[in-house]
Amino acid sequence: MTPELSVVVPMYDEQEVLPLFVERLRPTLDALGVSYEVVAVDDGSGDQTPVLLQRFLREWPQLRVIRLRANSGHQAAISAGLGNARGGWIATIDADLQDPPEVIGEMLEAGRAQGADVIYGVRSDRSTDSAFKRTTARGFYRMMRIIGGDDIRMDAGDFRLMSRATVDAVNALPEHHRVLRLVIPTLGFPEAEVGYKRDARAAGDSKYPLSKMLKLTIDSVTGFSLAPLRLATWFGLGGFAIAAALLTYAVISKLMGNAISGWTSTVVIVAGFAALQLLCLGILGEYVGRIYSTQQARPTYYVAYDSLLGPVNAKAVS
Ligand code: UDP
Ligand code: MG
Repeated sequence: MTPELSVVVPMYDEQEVLPLFVERLRPTLDALGVSYEVVAVDDGSGDQTPVLLQRFLREWPQLRVIRLRANSGHQAAISAGLGNARGGWIATIDADLQDPPEVIGEMLEAGRAQGADVIYGVRSDRSTDSAFKRTTARGFYRMMRIIGGDDIRMDAGDFRLMSRATVDAVNALPEHHRVLRLVIPTLGFPEAEVGYKRDARAAGDSKYPLSKMLKLTIDSVTGFSLAPLRLATWFGLGGFAIAAALLTYAVISKLMGNAISGWTSTVVIVAGFAALQLLCLGILGEYVGRIYSTQQARPTYYVAYDSLLGPVNAKAVS
């Protein structure tokens, strides 16, 4: 039987917050008056998260646990959940209680009342985030609106509710390293939003170190814009103009018999252009890498265990 609602929860090393999360999510969902399932995606946690999940599994029939073979990242973990959720509506929510579970009910109402397929949770107040997080987030959304267009919602993260049709469309996307919050608006489904106050993380530490934030940013940019490639072209053209001017200058000085001194300018030019070339090569590499991994068409995640099915590949799972 398909539940009316699936709630997808990616979690990575969330042993501190998990009991608090379950304690709050379960009564909230029970009170909604709809049939539901919770799809907990354990993104290769190395702490007690899988043990705790097994314990909850025994006493919470609506819980389903999917464990990924390796830590594959927030976006891949959500993708794994979306790929396996069976509900008519599918919500995605963080495990750290920064997204209040009570808002899911408001999202359902908004979806039904407004006939929308995608209902974004929009952070109307993120005063509990650190100044660093707020500044980097603001920069991220500004930049994405410039290159991705006005479809991108400011401050809409991965707390949202989607219809079955939307999730089917997301699951059918062939691209890897997809940034869901950017890809979903491009699918063209009717949208609505619900504002909410972003709370502080209830326990444990952020699982989004700078390296993962950078990866998300690079995936976002290269997934949505060719602007960096064009920038590389402009650098090349600018460099060519400067080189032509310098060459003319050098030849004329030579003809006029002026010996060219100028070790400093040579070093500056050589080093400067070498750096520029490396930068452009790097930009090019990002796109080539993207083509490469899409072309390989390897799965974005590997499921090791699914509480509905048992170990998916028994030999590989201890
Ligand atoms: N997460 C994940 N895999 C990762 C990193 C994070 O599944 O590699 C989960 C994490 O457990 C949480 C959500 O993604 O449920 C958001 O992460 P976090 O709260 O650490 O990010 P922040 O709120 O600090 O941006
Ligand atoms: Mg968080």
